[in-house]
Amino acid sequence: MKSQVYFAPAEVVKGKGLLDKLKIILDKLGLSSIINEGESVAVKLHMGEAGQTRYIRPVFARQVVEKVKEAGGRPFVTDTTTLYRHKRGNLFDYLETAAYHGFTAETMGCPIIIADGLKNTGVEIEVVSPLRLPRIKVAQYIYEADCLVSLSHITFHPFVAPAASIKNIGMGCTTKEAKMAMHTSEAKPTFKAKKCTGCRICLRICPGEAFSWEDDRIHFDPAKCVGCGDCIAECKGGAITVPWQSQAAYQVQRGTIDAYQAVVSTFAPGKILFINLALDITELCDCIHHSDIPVIPDIGLLAGTDALAVDKAGYDLIVNSPGYPGSKLADRSPEEDPAEKLTEGIGVNRFFDMAEEAGVGQTEYELIKV
Ligand code: SF4
Ligand code: SF4
Repeated sequence: MKSQVYFAPAEVVKGKGLLDKLKIILDKLGLSSIINEGESVAVKLHMGEAGQTRYIRPVFARQVVEKVKEAGGRPFVTDTTTLYRHKRGNLFDYLETAAYHGFTAETMGCPIIIADGLKNTGVEIEVVSPLRLPRIKVAQYIYEADCLVSLSHITFHPFVAPAASIKNIGMGCTTKEAKMAMHTSEAKPTFKAKKCTGCRICLRICPGEAFSWEDDRIHFDPAKCVGCGDCIAECKGGAITVPWQSQAAYQVQRGTIDAYQAVVSTFAPGKILFINLALDITELCDCIHHSDIPVIPDIGLLAGTDALAVDKAGYDLIVNSPGYPGSKLADRSPEEDPAEKLTEGIGVNRFFDMAEEAGVGQTEYELIKV
C-alpha cells in the first residue's frame, strides 16, 4: 500500500487558511490516538538562524502545540544547537535568537527546550545496517521524549535537497559530534592559527586535550581530537572551523539517512508525525544568516507518517511548479530539475532512492488534498 500524504494548498479555500487546514490534517492523521495522556511530545523545528526572515512562523508551531495539548500530551518546542559558530551555537544564544524570532514559552504555550542542553549531551545509538555512520549521538531530550512531531520548512540545500523532514530529524535531532560526522570526512575541525586571538577557551572545553598553549600561542593536535564539535561554536575568533568541503553531497546524504534512522529508532512505532511547510522555499536553508527571495512560489502544507513520502511529495510539487519571478529558478525549463540547477548535481533522486533502500519509507505515495 502506498503511503498517504495529506496536502493542504496554500490558497484560502471556502474561508479556510493554512492554520485551519493544519488542524484538519492533524485530526486526519489521528494525533489524539498517537499520543497517550501525559506523554511528552517534542515539537521539533528550526527556529531560524539570526538574520533569517523566512523561517517557520511561530503560529504554526503554536497550532501544533495546542492540538498536542488537546490530545492529552505534554508538548515542548525543541531544536538542537548548531555545529557552526553564529547565534544558535549554544543553549543561551539559541534561546535568545528563538525569543527574537517570536518563539518563547509564552508565545508557544509550552516550554522551549534545547534538546542537547548546556553541554551538547546525547545518547549514542547503534544504526542498524548503516550506509556510512554506524553510531550516532541523539540529542538527550529527543531521546527522552515519548512522541515527536516534526515541523519542517522545505528549502533547497547544498548537500541534502530537499531539506525537509529527513534532514530535520537526521541533522536536527542529533549532537554536534553527529553533525560533524555527517558533514566532514575526518570528523575533525580545521584550525587556522592566523585567526586565533589567544583567548584559550578551547583549552578549557576540549575533552580530547587537542589544544595546547606553548610559546605564547595555541597548538592543535588533530590526532587527539575526539570529534565532539564543541570547540567550533565556542571559538570566538573563528579560528576553529568545519571543513565543509571535505565531504561530497553523496556522503552527507548517506550520513543524514543514518542519523535519521538512529533518531527514529528511539521512538516506539507510530509515535512520529511529519509536517512539511512548502512556503518561502529558498535556495538555502534556515541556517544561513540572511533570507533571499524564494525560488518557488508558496505551495502549502504536506503531512503524513512516512518522512520519505512526505518529502518526495513536497519535492514533486516543487518540480511541477514554475520558478519564483526574479529568482534563480525564474527561467527554469520544465525538463530541468530545480535542485540540480541550483546545486550543480546534488543527486536529489539518488537521495530519495538511498532513503528508500535504507528503509526510511516509500517514494510512492497517495496525495490526499485537504
Ligand atoms: S578558542 Fe579559538 S581563538 Fe580562542 S584560543 Fe582557542 S583557537 Fe584561539
Ligand atoms: S572537536 Fe571536540 S575533541 Fe575535537 S578539538 Fe574540538 S573540542 Fe576538542
